[in-house]
Amino acid sequence: MKRLIYADNAATTKMSPLAYESMSEYLLDSYGNASQPYSFARRPKQALYESRCIIAKSIGASPDEIFFTSCGTESDNWVLSSFKNKGIITSAIEHHAVLNPCKTFEGEGCDVQYLAVDKYGVVTPNTLENSVFRVGGLVSIMYANNEIGTIQDIQTLSSIAHAKGCYFHTDAVQAVGHIKIDVNELGVDYLSASAHKFNGPKGVGFLYVRNGSPLYRMIHGGSQERSMRAGTENVASIVAMAVALQENLDNLDRNQTHVQSLVSTFLDGFASSNLDFVRNGTNQIPGNVNISFNGANGEMLLHRLDLMGICVSTGSACDSKNTQISHVLKAISLDPKYAEGTIRISFGKENSFEDASDISSAIIKILNS
Ligand code: PLP
Repeated sequence: MKRLIYADNAATTKMSPLAYESMSEYLLDSYGNASQPYSFARRPKQALYESRCIIAKSIGASPDEIFFTSCGTESDNWVLSSFKNKGIITSAIEHHAVLNPCKTFEGEGCDVQYLAVDKYGVVTPNTLENSVFRVGGLVSIMYANNEIGTIQDIQTLSSIAHAKGCYFHTDAVQAVGHIKIDVNELGVDYLSASAHKFNGPKGVGFLYVRNGSPLYRMIHGGSQERSMRAGTENVASIVAMAVALQENLDNLDRNQTHVQSLVSTFLDGFASSNLDFVRNGTNQIPGNVNISFNGANGEMLLHRLDLMGICVSTGSACDSKNTQISHVLKAISLDPKYAEGTIRISFGKENSFEDASDISSAIIKILNS
């Protein structure tokens, strides 16, 4: 059987066995509804509280600032919809979980500005300074880009937003669990995260909301999530999300060093090749390599790699039906002769050095054939 090499961890990650094991108790034994008053509901209620505390502590927040959601997309939509009457400033390279709600709200009359980025995908402080602020509005800039990996200077950008009387949100879906995050150091008012990006289950995420910041009531119903997002809690997945996050943070340095070494091994694989390529982005999130080969076709490359048992991406997973040059590559003004030959490799803690060198050898073989 062909060996599977999974190198698309920015799309989703393998669930941690520890997180997986933590779920069964809340599905098979302590399955009571956490909102019920009887003693059988005590254990799931306690588990929800403990998970909220673990997640809050991991980003320097307090437990009452954490709201559980179904995914990163929901977290992003929740914040943005809270500001659709106030004005939103965002960047041209955000994930569609931010760009598409912004487009919808724009159609409904919301004032939305899309900031340009430089050739590395950086939103410069100057660009933000020069935009038109509406007091009480929102600035939403992602922490790390899902395609090219560029990490933004969130601390500086949030302080500019605050000085102009705006709130600040960061979509940290690619960063949480992979990088140390402290909401107070960053100065953010809102932060979105998703469990399946850090070895937790799919279908669960969270939103950090600084106490006192505006928040729209997302789902009307029961009193779950302080009556802001009603609906019986997904206790097993929430518990597993907290376990996965804690596990990743306990091993953060080791995981970062490992995936960075995999990136170096992968890139070293091209040292003696005659391929003309560029690596996109700067100060990338650990494990991300977005690479563009002159004259190649990224779509073809992805399918040929797939036939060899190698999973990579051409851009964002949510964009897999779109064979156009991605909005991110357009925003960094990458020359189309390179842009069309782009793939994203995103290494995770499960990958080996053999995976990294096998992928570069496979690419060289395909492009030279
Ligand atoms: N934001 C970013 C930066 C992402 O990379 C993704 C997923 O790829 C999302 C939001 C959406 O997250 P989810 O899949 O949990 O809805």
